[in-house]
Amino acid sequence: MPMTWSFSGGAHPHGRKGTAEAATVRLDGFRRVVLPLSQHAGAPCRCLVAPGDLVKVGQRIGEPGGFVSAPVHASVSGKVVAVRKTVGFSGARIEAVEIESDGVYEMHPDIAPPVVTDRASFVAAIAASGLVGLGGASFPTHVKLSPPADKAPDTLLINAAECEPFIASDYRRILEDPAAVLAGILHVMHYIGIPRTAIGIEDDKPRAIAALHAVIDAKAAADPFGPASHVEVVPLRTRYPQGAEKMLIHAVTGRTVPSGGLPHDVRVMVLNVSTVAFIADYLLTGVPLVRRRLTLAGSAVRSPANLDVPVGVPIGDLVEAAGGFARTPGKVLMGGPMMGVAIDSLDSPIIKANNAILALDEKEARIPDESVCIRCAKCVESCPMRLMPTAIDEASRRNDLEELGTFHCNDCIECGTCSFVCPARRHLVQSIRNGKAQLRAAAAKAPKKEANA
Ligand code: SF4
Ligand code: SF4
Repeated sequence: MPMTWSFSGGAHPHGRKGTAEAATVRLDGFRRVVLPLSQHAGAPCRCLVAPGDLVKVGQRIGEPGGFVSAPVHASVSGKVVAVRKTVGFSGARIEAVEIESDGVYEMHPDIAPPVVTDRASFVAAIAASGLVGLGGASFPTHVKLSPPADKAPDTLLINAAECEPFIASDYRRILEDPAAVLAGILHVMHYIGIPRTAIGIEDDKPRAIAALHAVIDAKAAADPFGPASHVEVVPLRTRYPQGAEKMLIHAVTGRTVPSGGLPHDVRVMVLNVSTVAFIADYLLTGVPLVRRRLTLAGSAVRSPANLDVPVGVPIGDLVEAAGGFARTPGKVLMGGPMMGVAIDSLDSPIIKANNAILALDEKEARIPDESVCIRCAKCVESCPMRLMPTAIDEASRRNDLEELGTFHCNDCIECGTCSFVCPARRHLVQSIRNGKAQLRAAAAKAPKKEANA
């Protein structure tokens, strides 16, 4: 492995992790939850309940719509009061189940630890748990655990970088239960057959690094030839977007995922640190993914905190239960300031992949006016994907599909670094997203090739 532990480009936004030393607080007592039937990348779920049905915690209410999908479970006990449309995190209107809580949080009687004996039963159990990538990507985890047979991973890479400003939910997960992180890693190594693990974590988190070392060293001392002796903590230079999958793989292994490729193309499986901790908890308890740990922060929030709440709680109810707004929010984001998605209603629910809610006051939320590009090349120097953001921006504004392809618009990971460093305040990421939409629309219109042509 290389000694640099980083990548080229990137930026250094102020961390603003004011909640980092605040223990996670469990909040219950919510009146209702709204559970979208598509909280994951892939096919939406088919609804299994109807208004009037009584449900219990952990009961399956959404059946996966295919292999790339994840079941949805009730996060409170109570009564289904509606099956209705809501706005999903992508902005599309999607079906959701609204449950009025009875305040009891009674667990469904079928909840029990899954019987796992081999790779197939492990992957099936994770599929049944409804687990998706908890770092924000929302990709169903059982799909990640099923790489093509000819691309079996030789390295499990745990993403503990948490490089976005404000967000501390993964950091708290490590500090509060490092044993679960290690147990989850050992399960994945054992059942998927991966010989070694590297935990990539930024070097501004020494307490978390020490906590991980302590549990790994204790396990390895008890079993010197066991798998824990093949788990390594890799401190990384603190630099945004260190937690982006391709950057992390390159920083830790020196391997480069090809354009349009996936981690298994370079024999790596990447899982978020909270994802593996959930795996350990699930194998012990059988309780599916019905709760979410997240950071609530931002200048408009009265009491920034790390919280553990039922999936589906409306964001407005969550903020109120945590102390309310100190100032009128100008913008509320699901996620951090660099890659988060702005929501237009406080009725939007917390979803499985939601690692943060960031509420900015009106002053901080103001979007500065753009000025003309001064050709300083800062965006080019900082792009971790080595793209030319300014050229893609210009092509996008001209609807020039050929140039969008030439400048590899689709390789952009939408990390926001170019917009962050641009002195002209160009809305580069938004423009690049528009460019991707133009390419998608053109591809959809293109005549399909005959199967046997
Ligand atoms: S072009 Fe894309 S990948 Fe490059 S810095 Fe901008 S948002 Fe990030
Ligand atoms: S950073 Fe902004 S001003 Fe500088 S070249 Fe890029 S788009 Fe132009």
